[in-house]
Amino acid sequence: MVPTTKDPELERLGRAYEAYFDVADPRKIGEIRRDIFFFRKPFLEREKAYLQHKKTIGELKPLYKDLVKARNKYAQSKGPYRNFLHFALNDDGVPEKSFEKFLEQIDSLINRINKNLPKPKNSGQFYSPLNMPDFIDEISSKKYSLPEYVIRRLGEYSPEIGQMLPRIRFEDADKNHGFNEALFRPVTGTVVVRTWPSSDLQHAISLAHEVGHAVAYLRLIKEGIDPKDKPKYWHEKQAIRMELTFIGTLPQDLRNAAIGNILWQFTIALFEVETYAKPNLNFDRVFAQSFNRCYKEAQQKENPFYVVMEPLLRRPCSAVTQGIVHTGELSQVLN
Ligand SMILES: [Zn+2]
Repeated sequence: MVPTTKDPELERLGRAYEAYFDVADPRKIGEIRRDIFFFRKPFLEREKAYLQHKKTIGELKPLYKDLVKARNKYAQSKGPYRNFLHFALNDDGVPEKSFEKFLEQIDSLINRINKNLPKPKNSGQFYSPLNMPDFIDEISSKKYSLPEYVIRRLGEYSPEIGQMLPRIRFEDADKNHGFNEALFRPVTGTVVVRTWPSSDLQHAISLAHEVGHAVAYLRLIKEGIDPKDKPKYWHEKQAIRMELTFIGTLPQDLRNAAIGNILWQFTIALFEVETYAKPNLNFDRVFAQSFNRCYKEAQQKENPFYVVMEPLLRRPCSAVTQGIVHTGELSQVLN
């Protein structure tokens, strides 16, 4: 007999996902995102690409809102949760106090980060909805030999990385729909680190983050603790500390640019904070406002591109958990 799900909110959530991916499946969404945003595409071509995908983006907008509402309903059916964000943070093991502190600290941290940002070559384009701001790309096209460079720099701070290296395997993530990740393999006691096959600084930073996860897994195993017994919040803290250690080894201009790039995660996080709490708002406006809140020179009015942002679809609220960790760690060191 085929078991039937008796959870109407889970079914509703499933239908909301289905309706979304019926219009554009994850592969198509990745395509749209690359068509519009990626790899130094001239502005006119971005506008053309947007026009080409405008209809799909328009269809996705109400479906994204349905998804947010279905996630909220699902969360509320699971316990005394205000909304899906509240549920997700609880699931990640984020203490309520840490979330409150994040809300208190975030704007002052954003201001401090903005004071040290490199000046983009063309601010109008750089801060427009048709760009995902990358400050590193603005000032440097330096390539790094990876993972060697990152391992060497981190090894200077944490000698155990050298000893752990034989237990870490580095692989390229799928160029179309893969993302950066570190996967613990319990049978062999090893970790697979997958990152985008690129050698620029942003990818070196992502690699340092994933090495942070790998080191944390292997440390726990050594202590006889199952990595699954630690909440996601704890794991992200270990990874982000490693990432910030690596950023700390960079020359000052690159360091400022690297910290500036974290503003993108804050944009996504603040958008999620607003939209799960108030799902009836105009999301195009909320995304533009979240952007302007993070990038002080931006003056966006509406921005519909949340509908193609991968973390919002496949890893909802993970940007908030990471944003909470980044804010906590950076607030201690930046002044
Ligand atoms: Zn992580």
